Amino acid sequence: MEKQLSDSVQYLKGIGPKKAKLFAKAGIKTIEDFLYYFPRRYEDRTSFTSISKLQEGSTQTIKAQVLASGERRSWRRRGFSILEVAVGDATGKIFCVWFNQGYLKEYFHAGTSLILYGKIERYGKRLQMNSPEFEVVSEGDEPRSTCEPAVALKECRGASLDIGRVVPIYSLPEGITQRHFRHLVKSTLDECLPKVNDFLPYDIRSKNKLLNLAKSLLNIHFPDDFDMQKQAYERLAFDEFFVFQLPLALRKLKKKEKAGIVHKVEGELARSFIVGLPFKLTQSQVKVAEEIKSDMGKPQAMQRLLQGDVGSGKTVVATIAAMMAAQGGYQVAFMVPTEILAHQHFEKISLQLSDLDFQQKKIKVGLLTSSVNKKEKDKTLQEIKEGKIDLVIGTHALLEEDVRFKDLGLVVIDEQHKFGVGQRALLPKKGSNPDILIMTATPIPRTLAITLYGDLDISVITELPPGRLPIKTLHFAEDKTSDAYAVAKDELRKGGQVYIIYPVIEESYSLDIAGAKKMYGELRSGEFKEFKLGLIHGRLKQEEQDEIMHKFKNKELDLLVSTTVLEVGIDIPNATCMIVEHAQRFGLSQLHQLRGRIGRGREQSCCVMICDTKTPEAEARIKAMLKYNDGFRIAEEDLKIRGPGEFFGHRQHGLTELKIANPLTQMHLLKRAREDAIKLISLDPRLQERQHLLLKEKMLQRFPEYEKLIMVG
Ligand code: ADP
Ligand code: MG
Repeated sequence: MEKQLSDSVQYLKGIGPKKAKLFAKAGIKTIEDFLYYFPRRYEDRTSFTSISKLQEGSTQTIKAQVLASGERRSWRRRGFSILEVAVGDATGKIFCVWFNQGYLKEYFHAGTSLILYGKIERYGKRLQMNSPEFEVVSEGDEPRSTCEPAVALKECRGASLDIGRVVPIYSLPEGITQRHFRHLVKSTLDECLPKVNDFLPYDIRSKNKLLNLAKSLLNIHFPDDFDMQKQAYERLAFDEFFVFQLPLALRKLKKKEKAGIVHKVEGELARSFIVGLPFKLTQSQVKVAEEIKSDMGKPQAMQRLLQGDVGSGKTVVATIAAMMAAQGGYQVAFMVPTEILAHQHFEKISLQLSDLDFQQKKIKVGLLTSSVNKKEKDKTLQEIKEGKIDLVIGTHALLEEDVRFKDLGLVVIDEQHKFGVGQRALLPKKGSNPDILIMTATPIPRTLAITLYGDLDISVITELPPGRLPIKTLHFAEDKTSDAYAVAKDELRKGGQVYIIYPVIEESYSLDIAGAKKMYGELRSGEFKEFKLGLIHGRLKQEEQDEIMHKFKNKELDLLVSTTVLEVGIDIPNATCMIVEHAQRFGLSQLHQLRGRIGRGREQSCCVMICDTKTPEAEARIKAMLKYNDGFRIAEEDLKIRGPGEFFGHRQHGLTELKIANPLTQMHLLKRAREDAIKLISLDPRLQERQHLLLKEKMLQRFPEYEKLIMVG
């Protein structure tokens, strides 16, 4: 029967149900999966080395003739046989050894020419390869002398999959050898490539000088040479980017088509808010505020991502946007990931707005979190519904069904990376196509931001408020903890305040809190007994957390022992020192976020990480922290250390779909794929033209929800 690419691999020659099970474990279920199961790396086995030039310890390819062979029993292990074959070329000889593979001996008659590939070892005087991969060179077409590499290359190409060429090396499913796997790949390619239809429209392919799909699949597995490998790789990476960008392009187009709110962006309220601030906006803040203003004044709904390093002053920009919505009579919802942050924003923004009058009345700010008591909450809900509250700040409690707005005109989402994609999408549904401003303090390189949030426009705050000194960062080993504490004490005596952070890992949450609690007890009566200490963690009641933060802010406490509840957003400029205990247990971006809690005032701040780095990754993270202060650089390092999939976590859409494309190293490809996706979608949004039907099929296969996107609206 005709095989389909969507058929199970078990119908392939050489793979039965048993092997299919093992393949499935490696993620290979269908024939198509198998074709797209790319090599982990390649080995250049194109040139031969003369035996006299072989280097012990390296893995090399030789061409030689069988001199003699013999099989013997192992004297070390019973029932173990050893097949030894001596081979030689004009320059010397070497022994090849196979264990328990006596059946191979029929290949090794004296005089037979072989190509062998393996690791060179030395036992006494004797050179040896253990279980090398080999190929018999057929009689007749073989020169007598050791070959020149260039000659050998031509001579052997095509004849062999394993030797004399660039050879693919795979991450293997259990119970199969490289060689066997390689041969299965090849026979599958031979059988199934003719069925592979190229879904990428011809004009896009030719414009970008991309190989066709079948040729790319062949060359990603069995490249003619490294140049062809590269071309195949480019084509397949382009596909991944392109298929990933299409739905984003379509979403962007649709948003543009839907009518949004034309906000009254010029007005007294926003202007007097800015004038009333105790500081001057940075140029960068002014610029992004202008970008936001321009969006909000247009009839399409704003979809903007605001990036900026920790401490760059995003909140105030968001508040300006809020004032622009409010002065036209619209309500604003401002969602943040933690209760502490909600309270902080509520207090700070309420204060900033307290002197402002707008049409003879005050701007009313509300707070909504799950710990607000029932009576208070009902009142707030009512006021939101009646439009009495202009700006509501809250946690994901804002997403609950009973939160209804009179006229929601702007949604702000702070620290968006802390929310799932689904959560983010819920809030705007509470209005009629409101403008959306998304903020993130885990800044990512622009191109990567485009890959992920291709349907958003991007603004970046590129500078910190003036007068900030770069934070000094230090690292102490665990047995030098008291030195780290000495730094903190110094800071305290100078009048600064200190955070000491303990990690919390979700599985052992209570255990870790116990750790912080215990340390709090110890430090309070020990190292820091002359100071006033506080303890804060996520299991405390909201009022208790508030009280402690309050006390710290009012300098009634000198030192705060904390878990990572402090990670996002907290803004207390007098805190000038942070000690991070067990720093190896934090991710790089998380460390940078934590460090961002200090260095917020005019004093020099100092961050001390205490840990022993036992893994290379931990070491790389600590090094990056010592070297860089800039969040964009840190994010790039973090991406390098973890790779995009890990970096964004599995909750994030799409990136885990990228198997070979790497947005960091292939920005040029990404950019082209994105431009072409946008162009194609603007010409044929539903992919209904004939030359796009295959592409549509592909999209539906990858993203089943694409149908909805195409159909709706
Ligand atoms: P983030 O971007 O990390 O959210 P915040 O919005 O919390 O930063 O701002 C950090 C601190 O800097 C706040 O105390 C804020 O009031 C202050 N700030 C913001 N903009 C300026 C500015 N232009 N000049 C001086 N201080 C500023
Ligand atoms: Mg913030």
